[in-house]
Amino acid sequence: MIELRGVSHRYVTEGRREMTTTLALDGVSLRIPRRQFVAIVGPSGSGKSTLLRVVAGLLASQEGAVEVAGARVSGPSADRAMVFQHAALYPWQTVAQNVRFGLELSRQATGADADRIVGEHLKLVGLSEFADHWPHQLSGGMQQRVALARALAVSPSTLLMDEPFGALDAITRRRMAAELLALWEREQRTVLFVTHSLDEALVLADRVVLLRDGRVVRDAEVGIPRPRDPDSVPEDPWFLELRRSLWEAL
Ligand code: ADP
Repeated sequence: MIELRGVSHRYVTEGRREMTTTLALDGVSLRIPRRQFVAIVGPSGSGKSTLLRVVAGLLASQEGAVEVAGARVSGPSADRAMVFQHAALYPWQTVAQNVRFGLELSRQATGADADRIVGEHLKLVGLSEFADHWPHQLSGGMQQRVALARALAVSPSTLLMDEPFGALDAITRRRMAAELLALWEREQRTVLFVTHSLDEALVLADRVVLLRDGRVVRDAEVGIPRPRDPDSVPEDPWFLELRRSLWEAL
């Protein structure tokens, strides 16, 4: 369970003459049960990334409380893995070494244990044959799958994804969403998925939280039955109705 109570965050930037303050989160309260897939949607600048960073422990909110499994978040943890828009793989490490890196960093596994976990996760994302490739030999979508394998290999209870498919072309993006959906349906973890695509959110998530100006303006359950077929979801009556009402709120 992730809980945010009255969370506010201000960025202070020093200009040439004066300090500017931006209120990025304005009293956000959310309770996210374990294993729920939550999409955070909103226009650019609405506070989505800030919200994710606060939950990740990369940013300390100045007001309110953030708790994960009853404990206050005071910094990053391997239990809350982050996937960013750009895969950020180490170019001097092979695909397998990149996945292994997180495991060793968090001291979760070494030697043959680490080899086994790396192998399992490369298989999970369909990249077993690319273990010894270098990141530059992979397409953008494949690099993002490596980043996903790296995040999942440390067995986090929560996956924090910040526009993970935002840099991919439309076709790859759609395929990656379908893959993530299948993966999540197999092994459910709590997911916070930031996107500015309402359609992507409705295909993937159990719940859509709309942010505007740092505030939650809608919090809607997505009742589309699972397992979902990303191609037929857009024809579901839930999809059409929710899409219309969420657009109105945006
Ligand atoms: P989103 O992810 O929805 O695009 P962000 O959380 O990145 O929104 O940003 C929310 C607001 O905070 C925006 O107005 C943005 O300009 C501002 N902001 C974000 N990061 C910083 C920063 N490091 N310094 C100053 N202002 C920032």
